[in-house]
Amino acid sequence: MQKKILIAIDGPAASGKSTTAKLLAKKLNYSYLDTGAMYRAITLKFLEQKIDLENLKKWKKILETTEVFLDYSNGNLEVWLDKVNVTSKIRTPEINNSISEVASMAFVREKMVALQQEIGKNGGWVIDGRDIGTVVFPKAEVKIFMVASVEVRAKRRQKDYENSGLSIPFEQVVSEIKKRDEIDSNREVSPLKQAKDAIVFDTSDLSIEEQVEFLYKKILEKI
Ligand code: C5P
Repeated sequence: MQKKILIAIDGPAASGKSTTAKLLAKKLNYSYLDTGAMYRAITLKFLEQKIDLENLKKWKKILETTEVFLDYSNGNLEVWLDKVNVTSKIRTPEINNSISEVASMAFVREKMVALQQEIGKNGGWVIDGRDIGTVVFPKAEVKIFMVASVEVRAKRRQKDYENSGLSIPFEQVVSEIKKRDEIDSNREVSPLKQAKDAIVFDTSDLSIEEQVEFLYKKILEKI
């Protein structure tokens, strides 16, 4: 039997990680974990509870009993927060504007990282995020760091918004992405950064099919 390995895909916002990771997982018959969706669900709770940044003690307490669960059993990602399906609520501009701050809190990361490590511990997962190859699974057999120009990424994100019925000006999407990358890359705890042994992969001029094909070949060399 083929060995089931771990594939860590990191990179900045809208660099194509999740689409590529999902397709790769399907091709390999692996499971896919979207760690960004976990931080998105937590951020939704943070906003819904109207947490005051001055009162983080209360937030820490709330987080202790907060449950995040991702379900792919019907082929599409469903995100559950405290047993409520929040899938349609986590990719809004409001979440995108607050998420980097929430995800930079050490106790938020501690909880999410422990959950991710438990999920992926037996291999057979493609996991995407910001710190997968550096912190969550530093021994992952394949590490990929996906990059693309800000313009290309903003176009992709604007299209995602359009597909969910939101018309957001291009400049606004560019600044949202830049702000998120800036905070994600400079936070103290597990910043977005390329692992030393990661394959850097620029997707600016590639189609999704080309991205998947290239990475699939690289992964087969490792299995
Ligand atoms: O991948 P996605 O764009 O959905 O991630 C949303 C945000 O969640 C990121 O901008 C980052 O702030 C946070 N995140 C993180 N660590 C991860 C995955 C996502 O801090 N492993």
